[in-house]
Amino acid sequence: MEQNKDSKIVSDRLREEALDLALFEQAKNYAFDYMKNILDQSVYPDKLAIDGLTIFREPLQSEAGNPYDILDRLHFKGSPATVAQTGGRYFGFVNGGIIPAALAAKWLADTWDQNAALYVISPIASILEDVCEKWLIDLLKLPEGTAAGFVGGSSTATLCGLTAGRNYLLEQLGYDVGKQGLFGAPEIRVVLGDGAHSTIYKALSVLGLGSERLIRVPADDQGRMIAEAVPELDNQTLLILQAGNVNSGAFDNFEALCQRARNAGSWVHVDGAFGLWTSASEELNSLTRGVELADSWSVDAHKTLNAPYDNGIILCKYRDALTKALHMTGSYIIYSDHRDGMLYTPDMSRRARIVELWATLKSLGKKGVSELVEDLHHKARYFAKSLEENGFKVINDVCFNQVMISLCNSELTEKVLKLIQDSKECWCGGAKWESESVIRISVCSYRTTYEDIDRSVKAFIKAKEEALRM
Ligand SMILES: *Cc1c(COP(=O)(O)O)cnc(C)c1O
Repeated sequence: MEQNKDSKIVSDRLREEALDLALFEQAKNYAFDYMKNILDQSVYPDKLAIDGLTIFREPLQSEAGNPYDILDRLHFKGSPATVAQTGGRYFGFVNGGIIPAALAAKWLADTWDQNAALYVISPIASILEDVCEKWLIDLLKLPEGTAAGFVGGSSTATLCGLTAGRNYLLEQLGYDVGKQGLFGAPEIRVVLGDGAHSTIYKALSVLGLGSERLIRVPADDQGRMIAEAVPELDNQTLLILQAGNVNSGAFDNFEALCQRARNAGSWVHVDGAFGLWTSASEELNSLTRGVELADSWSVDAHKTLNAPYDNGIILCKYRDALTKALHMTGSYIIYSDHRDGMLYTPDMSRRARIVELWATLKSLGKKGVSELVEDLHHKARYFAKSLEENGFKVINDVCFNQVMISLCNSELTEKVLKLIQDSKECWCGGAKWESESVIRISVCSYRTTYEDIDRSVKAFIKAKEEALRM
């Protein structure tokens, strides 16, 4: 069919845009504006900025969108409505900042747009995954030969670790879950602490292990599993431990529990989303003593390590158990003698997020990882001490980077939290701890300075005074 000369078909237009370097200059300039303003921007967007997002709610137009207009829309309407997570006064959830070299590497690697599924699709991604696997084992002091899969976050990593564990235990009992499914399989017991993260429950439910037949072990006042309350373990048991409770930061007693599990033939998975990195610090590595005796570990690089989203890692002592659990095949899939990343993750096509993890580790170095982990800890302790000196109650032992604060009752705590959030001077979230409301602080970014903490403490004091006047 003859094409009207003036109306280009979409691929012609896109080919032209791909060569329009000014477009990418514009993106860079907007990004630089954002980076320059982030420290002064209020930590949470104001109502005007959030109301401005309604402009995005429109039907998809039929005609082409101008790429400059697309960028403008994002920068002028999107940027002001972002939460300043890369600034120094964001203490919500457990959200890390972004390491400069990793951000820059991400920009470059985004233009590569590599698919990290197979060596044959992306040798660079395969090599970097191989290298980082070795670096991580060294940093975290895990057994030689431990395998790493690079996934979106700890939720997926946990799913992979528990799948590997479930299938491994059943294989030892002569049962192949991959082939036979769970129908008629011996029953797997799951033992976990009362303080387990919600993503553990999600993984167990997806895996067909349910949420009601789990054996929940009571936790102590810090959220640590009470080791003496753990029932008899056996070779049909998945034991799930935690390195870093999401509220208190507390660590389970790995030394006692991993050894017991090993003797009984159980599989131990450790949810170390943000806490496992303490293994890299001499000052803090007593928290994870014995953790190397577990079988699988999930950890996030996008939290403590300050790598960009989304960077999670599953580590598994038995390479075969992991790859067998996540294996798939097809006549067009070409495995190589090199590392084929898809064997270690549920995804086939996957962005080469490893570039950012590699750049993060390379930028920090071993010493930098350890210093970063310790710095977050020291700042969390300073935050806690300053608040305590100003009449706030710190209800956890600040063993790592999480601080929990309460006032004399839940109602007042919630009021103060709301006022702190409304101040936009800093941002903290809330949680329930032993049925009482608490304010939770996570010091998780290298961007946070002692001045940021002083300024945030002032916001806490002001909020308390205001709440008491209400
Ligand atoms: C954040 C977190 C998770 C979930 O990790 P994602 O990367 O958000 O999927 C699991 N466990 C703990 C302890 C966490 O802090």
